[in-house]
Amino acid sequence: MNCRFCDRPLIHEFIDLGCAPHSNAYLTAANLKRPEVYYPLKLSVCSNCWLVQTEDYAGAEDLFSPDYAYFSSTSSSWLVHARNYSQLITSRLGLNAKSFVVEIACNDGYLLKNFVEAGIPCLGIEPTASTASAAQDLGLSVRQEFFGQSLGRRLADEG
Ligand SMILES: [Zn+2]
Repeated sequence: MNCRFCDRPLIHEFIDLGCAPHSNAYLTAANLKRPEVYYPLKLSVCSNCWLVQTEDYAGAEDLFSPDYAYFSSTSSSWLVHARNYSQLITSRLGLNAKSFVVEIACNDGYLLKNFVEAGIPCLGIEPTASTASAAQDLGLSVRQEFFGQSLGRRLADEG
């Protein structure tokens, strides 16, 4: 396997956590008696760029299904952290109504809603329909797509 950032061979595996279902792969009652797919969960670090990464065994369409069940806003401590972070970074960078905040994987809008409340324009990018819809219900502008080169190029073309 090569580094997904710099394409150098990955030779330093440093944690092996065995095998696990992919995150948020909740089972229905009917599926509890059926076999469940487990994937190796190993971390490697690139000795060239130091990116820590897992090996991919499942595609984005498997990991980010339309009924994706993890909503960041269910964690009250995470909401406090997001509010504190938004205030800190707004102050540090001098963000205002002329700024533009983009969050890749904005989930249900748990972070961006703080910038909207502060009058700072935002765009969320979120591949899962369930969470993107929740973010849009908060009044956030959300592109419901998986972020990659194609979307990056289109956003650049849009300015
Ligand atoms: Zn690398």
